[in-house]
Amino acid sequence: MAKQENLPAQAGNQLMEKIISLCKRRGFVFPGSEIYGGLANSWDYGPLGVELKNNIKNLWWKRFVQQRDDMVGIDAALIMNTKVWENSGHLENFSDPLVDCKKCHHRFREDQLENAKKCPDCKGELTESKQFNLMLKTFLGPVEDKENTVYFRPETAQAIFIDFKNVLGTSRKKLPFGIAQIGKAFRNEITPGNFIFRTREFEQMEIEYFIKEEIWKEAFEEWRKEMWSWMTDELGLNKDNIHELDVPDGERAHYSKKTIDFEFDFPFGKKELYGLAYRTNFDLKNHFQEPPYEDIETKEKIYPHVIEPSLGVDRSVLAVLCNSYKEEDNRVFLKLNPKLAPYKVAVSALKKNDEKLVAKAEEIYHNLKKEFSADFDNRGNAGKFYGSQDEIGTPYCIMVDFQTLEDNTVTVRDRDTTKQERVKAEELLSFLQNKI
Ligand code: ATP
Repeated sequence: MAKQENLPAQAGNQLMEKIISLCKRRGFVFPGSEIYGGLANSWDYGPLGVELKNNIKNLWWKRFVQQRDDMVGIDAALIMNTKVWENSGHLENFSDPLVDCKKCHHRFREDQLENAKKCPDCKGELTESKQFNLMLKTFLGPVEDKENTVYFRPETAQAIFIDFKNVLGTSRKKLPFGIAQIGKAFRNEITPGNFIFRTREFEQMEIEYFIKEEIWKEAFEEWRKEMWSWMTDELGLNKDNIHELDVPDGERAHYSKKTIDFEFDFPFGKKELYGLAYRTNFDLKNHFQEPPYEDIETKEKIYPHVIEPSLGVDRSVLAVLCNSYKEEDNRVFLKLNPKLAPYKVAVSALKKNDEKLVAKAEEIYHNLKKEFSADFDNRGNAGKFYGSQDEIGTPYCIMVDFQTLEDNTVTVRDRDTTKQERVKAEELLSFLQNKI
């Protein structure tokens, strides 16, 4: 993809509008609560969006949990004992600097104003900044008082720390090892926006990788490489559109001694996609009075240190969509890594009312569906069939025509090259398995 970094704002806005419109039209992402006028910055994943999102999550889980010997997973509750947030420092420190416009009363994150001294909306005077806590509050039980106040987790990480001893006791892992989790997190963001980039409810894929302090630099470097490989090899993001930002002192989260933000050139600008942080042993120390890990050889009790790759699922979906959206030769297509595509293959019959053709196409479709997510698209119009599947990123389209009835071959069309080749119907499964 062409570098997007220098896209003028107007071109970037137009591109975003096209992507948002495609998402809505084709069932990737809808505005949340739409029939009631919507709810600001809430989005629902539709039938194709949930496939894309699940494919990303499953690929991540497979790569970082199932295929490694040094990793296990958990799936913890969204609401935890409030002491978790007292001891983790979130109740005190998890905040963004907020300024108000004295004239139009719009609110801004001070760190996003880029030194602007006036309101970007009406040029009014801004208030002094104050810290605004991002934790989303609710009550458990019928009484809405301080004792029953609880918080939705603002990151998945804390559950991993507080379950550390339970995981250790049941999984027989030795340092270095990691615990992974995929799940929702909630933040009462001051300025949500840019479609699914910044919302108040989102999903994260996080790993806490536990190590001995002395190897933190090597471990950090290993995870930095892993993140690059994830972004480029698995998600297929163009490496020229990814940038590392070494977050300077004073700007890192309260728990971090080193953080690299991986920024991506979204159409609306260069913005954080993922973070990689060295959290030291800050969290385990805050949660456990006694060191929770005993070294097998030395019998020494220690608080392991932690490297944390933290990935937003929704930002992954958005980066993948922006990266794969193509307009070339009068067609629009999503050049998705086939592993991520909602449908791997779609099947159609050349004539929609020809019983024999349709029966054959259905037979092929049902066979393929046992192995791949597949679509049956029987509109009897090759051009529309291909155009429609291109737009949702289906890598292969199969057309059943009259020759099929004679020699049992079909045409397979490649999304990216638009080239067609004839393949024997009985070899389709292995043909696609090789390609995908
Ligand atoms: P930002 O600076 O954009 O607010 P952050 O540095 O606070 O992000 P982290 O706390 O490092 O974000 O969260 C880890 C990851 O979770 C981010 O890199 C991003 O992918 C995702 N994420 C964080 N906040 C949101 C949000 N409001 N909406 C969607 N994804 C988010």
